[in-house]
Amino acid sequence: MADVSSCFLSRPIDVKKYGLLFGGVQKNIGPAGNVIVVVRKDLLKDDPMPMTPTMLTYKTYAEKNSLYNTPNCWGIYMCGKVFKWLLGIGGLEEMNRRNEKKAALLYSYLDQSKLFKGTVRKEDRSLMNVTFVTGNKEIDARFVQEASENGLVNLKGHRIVGGMRASLYNAVPYEGVQKLVDFMEKFEKENSSAIVSEKN
Ligand SMILES: *Cc1c(COP(=O)(O)O)cnc(C)c1O
Repeated sequence: MADVSSCFLSRPIDVKKYGLLFGGVQKNIGPAGNVIVVVRKDLLKDDPMPMTPTMLTYKTYAEKNSLYNTPNCWGIYMCGKVFKWLLGIGGLEEMNRRNEKKAALLYSYLDQSKLFKGTVRKEDRSLMNVTFVTGNKEIDARFVQEASENGLVNLKGHRIVGGMRASLYNAVPYEGVQKLVDFMEKFEKENSSAIVSEKN
């Protein structure tokens, strides 16, 4: 079972490996307000726990063809547009190629940077969310602030872990990542005196 909200349609996956996939569409697919569920038929056979509300029971949706109540039609329509666009560019293979290229640009900069450091082991790195730190909370905060003044917004890391997080969802173009890396290089040069001690 997987919550695929962050990586939905970012690359091909083997759906057969999962009993259930679910995700909000708001990151890679369409406007907020829809959830897509892919569930193996045998998992829908049994009744859920008696306390489960009708509207939180996947069986309700499966039996009524997702039309038990009036769904968010506009959201579904917009998702349909994105599905067609994806098919038009060459499907998930092409989307994956673009996402790999975007992530590689940022990770290869991080791997040689003396100021910034990626926070995830290489083999576990995400194509969608790239997390990094400088090792110094004040410099992190200044980076986030100056980046946002330069049009690079929402780089502040998750409130639980701090640091920075760059989201490279499907809609982010390669040029956007290039702009971020250019800015990080500039910031690194300007802050080269502040570096070292904390990083290692
Ligand atoms: C983003 C995300 C959520 C929650 O999405 P919201 O936009 O905060 O509602 C849940 N699970 C995963 C894996 C996500 O990436």
